[in-house]
Amino acid sequence: MTTAPAAIRLASVSKVYGSGPGAVTALDEVSLGLGRGRFTAIMGRSGSGKSTLLRCAAGSDRPTSGTVWLGDTDLSGLTQPALTRIRLRHIGFLFEADDLLPALTVEQNIALPLAERTVDRTWLRHVAAAVGLADRLGHRPSQLSGGARRRVAIARALITRPAAIVADEPAGALDTRTGRQVLQLLREIVDRTGQTVVMATHDPMSASYADRVVFLADGRLAGSLDEPCPLAIAERMTHLGAW
Ligand code: ADP
Ligand code: MG
Repeated sequence: MTTAPAAIRLASVSKVYGSGPGAVTALDEVSLGLGRGRFTAIMGRSGSGKSTLLRCAAGSDRPTSGTVWLGDTDLSGLTQPALTRIRLRHIGFLFEADDLLPALTVEQNIALPLAERTVDRTWLRHVAAAVGLADRLGHRPSQLSGGARRRVAIARALITRPAAIVADEPAGALDTRTGRQVLQLLREIVDRTGQTVVMATHDPMSASYADRVVFLADGRLAGSLDEPCPLAIAERMTHLGAW
């Protein structure tokens, strides 16, 4: 168990899609604290509820029941505009899909989440340097490799100094080597800056970059591993009958 205070906490969170006989329970009474300054992986096979958990944790989807806390804020008590504001300010998103805007420069893409807020140029340059893009700020996404584009997305997730980065299969669409570099970069960001990261993955090697792996099976928590190695993660998945 983590002893660090939770950046995000889920308390008995359930999510049901649809109603009647066709209803799907994607999350079933999930209670989980995502430790501040820690790298947590949510691991489970396809359809186990990982993306739903991340969306509920990030405030981009509302649970059917249960409560999500972002720090001291109970997200279930918020109106939709307030929830959206909190999400944009305090959560950094990193998705599998490459969703950079092609017409904008690297710098403009990184600054996007700031919207109308003033860009702190020192911080932007610091973030760009941290992901190895200091000399690429004027480039367009089409001039970059897949790995470099993913690093732009990481910088964009960091630019608001979020309470947590929420990453859904961040290495999923990349070749193995580039995927490892992205995971290593997330690891370094956590170690160097104390950033909180939560990542969904179905790959034991990816999950082994985390401090803690939490297993999901059919929308339910199915245990966790601290300081996990890929073999132990794969073994646990096999025991869960998840493969
Ligand atoms: P994972 O990310 O682990 O693959 P998901 O959270 O995407 O799992 O999905 C969990 C379950 O919820 C699956 O059975 C999926 O089909 C269902 N589900 C996810 N999103 C929706 C949706 N918007 N409408 C209906 N069912 C959904
Ligand atoms: Mg998913």
